[in-house]
Amino acid sequence: MTDALLRLRNATVRFGARAVLDAVDLDVDEHEIVCVLGPSGSGKSTLLRAVAGLQGLDGGQVLLGGRDQRGVPAHKRGVGLMFQDHQLFPQRDVAGNVAFGLRMHGASRGEQADRVAELLDLVGLPNAQRRAVASLSGGEQQRVALARALAPRPRLLMLDEPLGQLDRSLRERLVVELRELFDELGTTVLAVTHDQGEAFALADRVVVMRDGRIAQSGTPLEVWQHPADEFVARFLGFDNVVDAAVKGGVAATVWGSIPVPTGTPAGRHKILVRPAGVRLVSLDEGLPCEVVARTFRGTHVAVRLQPKEGPRLEAACALREAPGVGETVGVAFDAGDVVVLG
Ligand code: ADP
Repeated sequence: MTDALLRLRNATVRFGARAVLDAVDLDVDEHEIVCVLGPSGSGKSTLLRAVAGLQGLDGGQVLLGGRDQRGVPAHKRGVGLMFQDHQLFPQRDVAGNVAFGLRMHGASRGEQADRVAELLDLVGLPNAQRRAVASLSGGEQQRVALARALAPRPRLLMLDEPLGQLDRSLRERLVVELRELFDELGTTVLAVTHDQGEAFALADRVVVMRDGRIAQSGTPLEVWQHPADEFVARFLGFDNVVDAAVKGGVAATVWGSIPVPTGTPAGRHKILVRPAGVRLVSLDEGLPCEVVARTFRGTHVAVRLQPKEGPRLEAACALREAPGVGETVGVAFDAGDVVVLG
């Protein structure tokens, strides 16, 4: 047995005939930050609720610190929860909110006050004890919710769409802060989000769910570079997926022949070409495509291309080099950005 802090074995939850969690196996190690990612309805919240003890299992086990949690109520599991609609108590001030879990655990007034001050410093809201919850911005409320979840020193912190309701720039800033904070504290975290950017910025390991099952688990880099299958690729926003017949290091596709990584076995595969590997070349050198749309993405332009046959392609172009809508360009493919999907 390894020393996984959290271990799910065959964890199954059914609503009616449907398994919303379908025999899930998942380990989270001490100090690890794991983000569960997946489309709406894939079972992410159910997984969190099952670990927290808010949702019973119809099969399998949840183990915390090696102990089966069957029959252990939520408040005895030693897990901290922070949900999307952070549900602060509006009639209590900041200190009253942060101290909530401490009071439940019977901490003295002095201990509560010390810990509240410590936590407010930690989340960047020093001396906010007496402020009314209603006077706080969305980002500040989120920090209070985090302080409240961390206050009783949970052995596992669980976050459900922690930054879901905040605007993008605030989210991007907070996610970096969260990561730094968890590293500093050595917190073990199981977070759920549908936002890939958030998951990739926060996690040591990303778990992608589909229909109650784990479609892929790996470091952000592994998952980003090698999506396991077409579902994961498309979920990550990669749409250049095409059927291919591979033979001798080359894939025959409706887009023409595409080089594939060495060692790819011969046979029929789905292949993905990452947009960075779709190169614009002169018309006589590549596959002729018409530019149908351009989307500005900050660091590059995503150019949508319609070949004569087959699905559309997306290329990532430098800002100054992006062709205009209606132009016809040639397209070539780089083997380094070709992924053979399972
Ligand atoms: P996610 O968090 O990935 O959006 P959920 O875990 O919330 O997914 O839900 C997974 C599926 O289970 C959804 O189809 C949802 O409608 C269904 N579901 C969740 N809770 C219940 C419930 N209490 N009763 C019936 N169906 C439920």
